This record gives sequence, C-alpha cells and structure tokens, in this order.
Amino acid sequence: MPELAEIEHNPPLYNSGIGLYLHVPFCETKCPYCDFNTYSGIEDQIPGYVRAVENELRGWGNLLSHPPVRTIFLGGGTPSYLPADDIESILTTIRRSYEVDNFAEITMECNPGDVTPERAASWIGSGVNRISMGAQSFDDGLLKLLGRRHTAVEASNAFQTLRGAGFLNQSLDLMYGLPHQSLGQWTDSLDTALSIDPDHISLYGLQIEKGTPLAVDVATGRYPVPDDDLAADMYEEAQRRLAAKGFAQYEISNWAKAGMESRHNLIYWRNEPYLGVGPGAHSWLAGRRFANLKSPRRYVAIVADEYRPNGLDPVTAMRMPAGPVEQVDVTTPAIDVAETMMMGMRLNEGVTMSRFVKRFGTSLGDVFPNEISRLLGIGLIEVTGDAIRLSERGRLLGNEVFAEFIGDE
Ligand code: SF4
Repeated sequence: MPELAEIEHNPPLYNSGIGLYLHVPFCETKCPYCDFNTYSGIEDQIPGYVRAVENELRGWGNLLSHPPVRTIFLGGGTPSYLPADDIESILTTIRRSYEVDNFAEITMECNPGDVTPERAASWIGSGVNRISMGAQSFDDGLLKLLGRRHTAVEASNAFQTLRGAGFLNQSLDLMYGLPHQSLGQWTDSLDTALSIDPDHISLYGLQIEKGTPLAVDVATGRYPVPDDDLAADMYEEAQRRLAAKGFAQYEISNWAKAGMESRHNLIYWRNEPYLGVGPGAHSWLAGRRFANLKSPRRYVAIVADEYRPNGLDPVTAMRMPAGPVEQVDVTTPAIDVAETMMMGMRLNEGVTMSRFVKRFGTSLGDVFPNEISRLLGIGLIEVTGDAIRLSERGRLLGNEVFAEFIGDE
C-alpha cells in the first residue's frame, strides 16, 4: 500500500475548463438562520461592487490566459436583487475575458420577490439559462418564521413567470427540520413544489449556525431544539415522493429529472477546478485552494483598479494587497485524496475508480484497503461497476463514512 505522501498529485488543469462562481454579497433582509457572507442595508456599495468584480474577472482572465469556462454560477447572497443591467454587464465581462462554452450552464440564484416579467426577460436575454430559486417552504407560517420576504403563492407565481419567460431549467430549494414543522407540513410543501413542475430540487436540513438570531432563539427556548429523528423521517419521505415523480437522487441533498443535474455543482463534488470571484469567494485552481477577503467594503477598495500583471504566478499575483486573495491553503496529495473522497461519496455515482487512478496514479483499493473493507462489511458503502458509493443506509450516516477517508492531515 502506498504512503499518502508518495501518491501522485495530478489535479485537473484549469486550461481544460473550469466552473466560474460569482459571489453577490447583498440581500434585501438577512434571514435569521443564515450565516453566509451576505449583508443587508449596504445597497450603496452595489455600483462599486460591480466595478470591482468586473476588474477581478478581467484580472483572472488575463492571468489565466482566458481559460475555457464550462459553467457559471451567480450565487450569494441574492444575485436577483442586483439591477438587471448589472447582471448583463457582469456576464458580458465574463464572455470577453473567458472562453465561455456555447452550451455553458449559467445559473442565477433568485428570490421569488425579485421576479417580474421584465426582469425575467432581461436575465434570459443576458444569457442566464438556469434558475435556482430559494422557495424554502410553501407554508406561510414557516416562511415567516424563516424571515423570508415572500409567501407560498408568490413563490409559485414567480416560478411560473420565469417559465413563461423561457427558463426551461429551474431548481427549487426547500428546507426541512424547521422548528414547529410537522411531517404533514413538510409533505404538503413538497407536494406543492412538485405540482409546479421544477426540473431539479435541493433539500436542506436546517442547521442551527452559531451566532445567528435563530441560534439565540433556540438557546433561549423561544424555539425548540430541532428533532433529528423527525428530520430523518422527512428526508426519507422526500426520497419516496421524489422518486415516485420521476426525480433521480444524484447527490445527498439533490434530485433532478433526467439530464437536469446541476453541472456546476458536479464540478465541486467531482473535485474539479473552479474559480470564485467576489467577496469571500473560494477557488480550487492550479492545485491550490484559496479564498478572497470577506468584507465587501474592503474588497471594493482593493479591487478598485484594473489589475496590472506583475510576472508572478496567478494565485500569488492576486494575493492581497495587490488583489483580493486573502488565504491560500496548502494542498498535499493526502488532502486532495481526502477531499476527492468526501465530496465524491456525496454523489450517487460515487467515486469513480478509473478517475481516481488517473488523478492519483494508484487505485482506491490500494490507498484505503481497510477502510473500504470495514465500510463494506457494515453495509455503509457498495461497489457498482467502476465506482464506490454510499449505500441506502450509508446516505443517512454519511459523516461516519467520510470520517474513514480523512487522514491525519
Ligand atoms: S436570502 Fe439567502 S443568502 Fe440572503 S440572508 Fe436569506 S438565506 Fe441568506
């Protein structure tokens, strides 16, 4: 068995295609459960942000010699909260600075309250071809508890408006395991979501994040501590209902109709290269993981000017104070193996053995003989053709499986 330190390290090259993520750090209001790098009440920074993000996009485009882009994801935050002209301007800058694939998947996250026929037409005219809508629930009481700005009817109407504008690839996010949420409320929400005929559904169990207003409400007893057993029942019920409606589960939290899987998120789960642009955005490129500084105000100040190439390698050239990259992590072969396993095992396709050999020059069985045999023995993973993946039971105990593949590093 090879030592992890001796394993070859061949992360995919960025010049064979990347995913491009753009972080939009603005929301009209901050939801009480959310700990993302996003802010309300700083709309005055939007014009500066758009200029800075376009500078950063051009800077990376030049430094990386205009690499091919397979997918674009405008996330946040609330990209749909930006003026539609800004979305168009940002996408034009991307097309001028990168070689965007003709069939690139271009996703925009969207809040129902931002959707109008005019904006939907503008987004589609700008090239957005996939919408990911944060519906979260179709129960007005729970939407209120979550601090959402829309009602259930408004979410359905927004979805139909987007369909009418020509969006043929639409995803809905729903949350389960909410305080006071019954199994009946959950299945009602799911059934309403299915009745409007989305192409893709993401289901997220509520996590109580430290430091959020919701965490305070749970700590002080205003809301009950979430019931993990009930959340597991909700998940299993969702698996049944979605399968009955023709949705295939392709990742622990994601279901799609045939051919409608999120190509951008598949890049993350297959541990392939992506570039993140904007405050707090993360990247995995040129064999390194790195992250931008989080503060929108500081980001705008640092990326206020056109980037001037200085002869350094791209990631070093973009480090602060010349660029927005604040943190660069060391990525050893052992870390890359662990991350490839952790993310790949989330997928229904699992970790593909031939891809693993290509990347690490050795087989999965040689690197993890004991781990694989133990997990097979207790029925948490299974071998299917060219891959190792979670079993049905393993999906409920994913963390136990992931822990096996994380080395000492
Ligand atoms: S809209 Fe989304 S990103 Fe914004 S605060 Fe709410 S959950 Fe967070």
